[in-house]
Amino acid sequence: MAFDNLLSSLIKNRLNKMNKLLENNDLISIQKEIEKYDYKKLKLVKKYHLITGLKHVAKNSPYYKDKMPPQIKDIKYSNALAIIPKLPFTTSLEVSKDSEQFLAIPKEDVVNIHFTYGTTGGKKTIYNSRRDMRQINYSYTLGFINCGIVASDIAQLVYSFGVWGLAENIQRALLNQGIITLSTGNYVNFQEQQQFIEKFGTTVIFGTPSYVYNLAQECDLPQKNKDKMNAILVGGEGLPEHRRKIIEERLGGEVYINYGLNEVGGGIGSECRIHKGYHIFPSSHIEIINPKTGEPVDTEEFGELVVTPLNREAMPLLRYRTGDITRMLDGECDCGLKLPRIDYLKGRADDKVIIGAAEKYYPIDFDLLFDPMPEIKDYWIEISTKNDKDALLIYVLADKPSKKLEEKIIEKCYSLDSIKIDIETTKTLNEPEVVFIDKLPKGGKRRRLVDKRKFLK
Ligand SMILES: [Zn+2]
Repeated sequence: MAFDNLLSSLIKNRLNKMNKLLENNDLISIQKEIEKYDYKKLKLVKKYHLITGLKHVAKNSPYYKDKMPPQIKDIKYSNALAIIPKLPFTTSLEVSKDSEQFLAIPKEDVVNIHFTYGTTGGKKTIYNSRRDMRQINYSYTLGFINCGIVASDIAQLVYSFGVWGLAENIQRALLNQGIITLSTGNYVNFQEQQQFIEKFGTTVIFGTPSYVYNLAQECDLPQKNKDKMNAILVGGEGLPEHRRKIIEERLGGEVYINYGLNEVGGGIGSECRIHKGYHIFPSSHIEIINPKTGEPVDTEEFGELVVTPLNREAMPLLRYRTGDITRMLDGECDCGLKLPRIDYLKGRADDKVIIGAAEKYYPIDFDLLFDPMPEIKDYWIEISTKNDKDALLIYVLADKPSKKLEEKIIEKCYSLDSIKIDIETTKTLNEPEVVFIDKLPKGGKRRRLVDKRKFLK
């Protein structure tokens, strides 16, 4: 135990040093510290957070108190990681049903509340303490560093401001680092956004991929502004590869995608300059499980991402099931960072549909087919039943709809073996049909795969 105490005080000193650097807006020194992390040090920091975090949960969380495994009484550096598989899972539904039951500090110590809307599970209330706010600030700052943001940058925030708190958290982290921030939100029109970029010489843009993509298409920036642009940081949704290229061509700078969830304290990971998946910040422990069995999958195999935030005070969640499908990426990243990486999200576990004989599809399977086609600006697929077989109706937004384009789209579908086999051999699927549209329906997040069969049964 004496050894454990010594280790804890060493790590605590190190973390305090990081906090000081953060308070002093010293991005360069923080980056140097992060680069010093090797696998061994990362593991120790993780165990430190895990031990202190789980002790806090076992003592103070009304929800988890009685659900903790008996090993918690004897948690130490040598057995900390082995406890994780014995901890209970937490679902989005449990959090949305009653967020307050997860509160592990007195209500009067909460300093920030925001809400989050998922595609499933309804509205969730997220509580943060002062320490949580520091941690959120820290993880966003790590994201900035990974994306090459420097103190002299001029940021333009085009996220929507509101009760969900994402724009506010980024704004706070930027202000803390002394980075000039134009909080234009997404309420001004695209021409006004462009005027801001030109007038103030914006060098970094923050926004959702779909808004930034639309901004890129509507903006006609002078070359000198494109040259000034350092980075475009997007998050909250995925970004198809061809859209990334269009954004970079039209706005300048390099696009970085970030991954985070309000439920577990915001930033979970970010891309680095190599752009091969997301590096996971040391404040989160991640697992990839089989969504059906809850058992871990093999390295590099796809499964559901489960996140345990290690440094949450007000509302710590254990083994939070994100519903997002991804995989661990093996091997070291060329950027040199030792932080583990996950792949881009394949889709949400509940976005999966079974079409034809028995093949499972995620939205990404079709993104990979259609994204390389510049003629297609956007699309979604409606799945229904026709003549006792599955039917795919592909709605396509295109500038120049044509018979030729329609044939090309159907041909692309046939390039997926499972679709070809189900049309020609198992005869469980009709030939896909294409419907061209000239504008997208209004509304928020849209599903790529809309399963109408559920309503027919
Ligand atoms: Zn990297």
